[in-house]
Amino acid sequence: MSDYSQSTRFVHAGERREAPNGVPASTPIYATSSFIYEQVEDIDRIVEGDTTGFVYSRYGNPTVAAFEDAMAQLENGKFAYAFGSGMAAIHGALLACELSSGSIVLASKDLYGSTFELLLTVFGAFGVKTVTEDFNDVAALRAKAFELKPSVLLCETLSNPLLKVCDIEECAQIAREVGAKLIVDNTFATPYLCRPLDLGADFVVHSATKYLGGHADATGGVVVAKKEFDKPALLGALTLAGGVLSPWEAHSILRGIKTLGLRLEKQCSNAEILAAKLQKLPEISEVIYPKLFDGVDANALDRTFHGNDFGAIVTIRLAEDTREAAYRFLNALKLCTRAASVGDLFTGIVHPATATHRELSPAKRDAIGITEGLIRISVGIEDVNDIYVDIERALSVSIPIEAPRALAVGQGKISLRA
Ligand code: PLP
Repeated sequence: MSDYSQSTRFVHAGERREAPNGVPASTPIYATSSFIYEQVEDIDRIVEGDTTGFVYSRYGNPTVAAFEDAMAQLENGKFAYAFGSGMAAIHGALLACELSSGSIVLASKDLYGSTFELLLTVFGAFGVKTVTEDFNDVAALRAKAFELKPSVLLCETLSNPLLKVCDIEECAQIAREVGAKLIVDNTFATPYLCRPLDLGADFVVHSATKYLGGHADATGGVVVAKKEFDKPALLGALTLAGGVLSPWEAHSILRGIKTLGLRLEKQCSNAEILAAKLQKLPEISEVIYPKLFDGVDANALDRTFHGNDFGAIVTIRLAEDTREAAYRFLNALKLCTRAASVGDLFTGIVHPATATHRELSPAKRDAIGITEGLIRISVGIEDVNDIYVDIERALSVSIPIEAPRALAVGQGKISLRA
């Protein structure tokens, strides 16, 4: 290197060291877009698929591959591919189903708002038709599937924000009967609560931005597939559309996954305690938490969740079911954050009508139960009493003097969502 001029040495000094002998205890961040080989034939063999290796990070990167391996293992899949966001992952999974003009996607009517928009606008522009159905009404779903012969069934394990629990085994059975693929968005449940591939789904998608990362510092997504057969189509969707995950984000998400079990254990327990406490507050007319009470569709819940935890989200409906009341409450919070996300280790509270489901018309929102006074609480790992006190105080200070607080007394109840 000393033979070269200084400007050349600036470019190359210190680079391309031999890989160390020891295996790094934590996967390093391979912040490189390409990989250099002694012989060009080596690159050729990798690109041809004759040997494994990395050439160009859009086609694969070791840090990203470590995250993909982790997710394939945790979801019991054959393989996984990481994407730059949850939306890119959903887009990729749909592309891998090889939809074309005239194909039909049968989607749960409770899907995340942007997923709807993706189906209606991006896929709709290419002639793909989306029809919605209540996936909790298995008889109606089966009838609709037989009538339409869809290419894809798409649902969420735990719907956002109404926390309906999908009976994935039933949906997978219906998908098989009509020759469709089943895609399940497992973002809210994570493999800690549910593994949809074990229940018959073809693809699991995640917004890794949420519980997998868990620290509000990374945006990413992942698709895990059940069958090797789907690999070329998914790889094509990833590398040609190009929505890949960066190695920096992959590293943060991998680190987040290490504490997923610990975080969710605490968050689920906090959520259950919080749901029970909130139902006693007169300012709240409805508390939605998918915990089984009094035998409501126990089978579906048992089949879907493999443990005794039921998620870390609690959704409440204010007795004064208006946007004004919701905003007053949100603005009065001191500890809980007004974070436009979910699944972080701190408690984040969102107004679905103007956040997650903003794209939908008020009529559509009303039809699925997302009223103006609906609030979604993503429960964190803080002391649950601190979370409760903050919410309780924000509810009481945000009620105007003339508001009929007493009217709501006794109306609090837990909604059972199975
Ligand atoms: N799926 C669900 C259930 C979500 O809630 C979200 C985002 O909130 C997404 C997918 C999209 O994820 P991302 O924001 O990482 O694209």
